[in-house]
Amino acid sequence: MKSAVAHLCLALAICAPISSKNASAQPNQAKRNFQAEIDAAIQSAKTAATFEHLGTLVRTCLLPQSGGENLTDNVPSYVADPASAPPRETWYADPAKVFDNLYFVGGKIHSSWALTSKEGIILIDTIYPYNSESLILGGMKKLGLDAKNIKYVLISHAHADHIGGAEMLQTRYKPRIVMGGPDWEWVEKYPNRYKTMAPKRDIVAADGMKITVGGNAVTVWLTPGHTPGTMSYTFTVLDRGKPVNVAYSGGTAFNFVNNTPDPGIKNFQTYIDSQKHMAEKAAAAHATVLLSNHSEFDNAVNKNRMLAGRGKGPHPYEIGADSVQRYFQVMQGCARAAQLRLEQRAAEGTS
Ligand SMILES: [Zn+2]
Repeated sequence: MKSAVAHLCLALAICAPISSKNASAQPNQAKRNFQAEIDAAIQSAKTAATFEHLGTLVRTCLLPQSGGENLTDNVPSYVADPASAPPRETWYADPAKVFDNLYFVGGKIHSSWALTSKEGIILIDTIYPYNSESLILGGMKKLGLDAKNIKYVLISHAHADHIGGAEMLQTRYKPRIVMGGPDWEWVEKYPNRYKTMAPKRDIVAADGMKITVGGNAVTVWLTPGHTPGTMSYTFTVLDRGKPVNVAYSGGTAFNFVNNTPDPGIKNFQTYIDSQKHMAEKAAAAHATVLLSNHSEFDNAVNKNRMLAGRGKGPHPYEIGADSVQRYFQVMQGCARAAQLRLEQRAAEGTS
């Protein structure tokens, strides 16, 4: 693993100390060694990531984060002018039957999942307004699923890449829509930002709430952080008849205010506490599969391709309980490193 990490470091030029100018500063015995704490947090995330969670490591430890919450209420360009939506080849991916009762109807970048039973379908996430019809409805049709059977739509959080098709689905098929309370408030507060995407207020998620259709039960866990209403889930699917437990992580990047100690330090703590909460629920559910709403984090599109060559081998999505726990350790380690940088700024009065 050591050489693998070194190789990654070379490829991505990520191994330079985060604040190398401080490294040569005269250590003050009375002062807290923030750099050592930051380095340890990043190292813990790198160690936890292995090859399985590199996408999450890169996104949360390495790539630049957005500066904070979007407070504007502008109509997105792809809604104002549908011709400006990204071209199909940038987002299209084939749908796939992933487990006996779980189907991928997402795209190259963002996911949507259909959990099926004889009594109906629970749909998780709805992608963008410009591709939800093609990917979700088109994908379901290709897979032999009838969108009229969608009983519930769970929106992991109210960003346009997940809520985009919710209004269309609610209008056409009348499913119940579940979302976190603070994210329902966003949808109502920013009518332009959510134009064509805004479902009418329906079910407000609660921690531990069970959404049940037929033999399937999705347990909703409140994991505020990425947005204040972010939801994650645990549920069971069948792999060739064998029950397999899934942990689904509903929000990953640091899209909250994270560039000033106040409220950044508090926001990171909310995020970290949510990952601990979800890790506990994943462990209690004996989750051996980690799903996300971005392929960047769970490698869904690549794993869908691997399914075709599986034969009698292991299911490509089943990474084991230890690796599922490691996923949440990556998120925690990277969030802690970013939080420590803000703590350092607060302590040094440079905020
Ligand atoms: Zn988001």
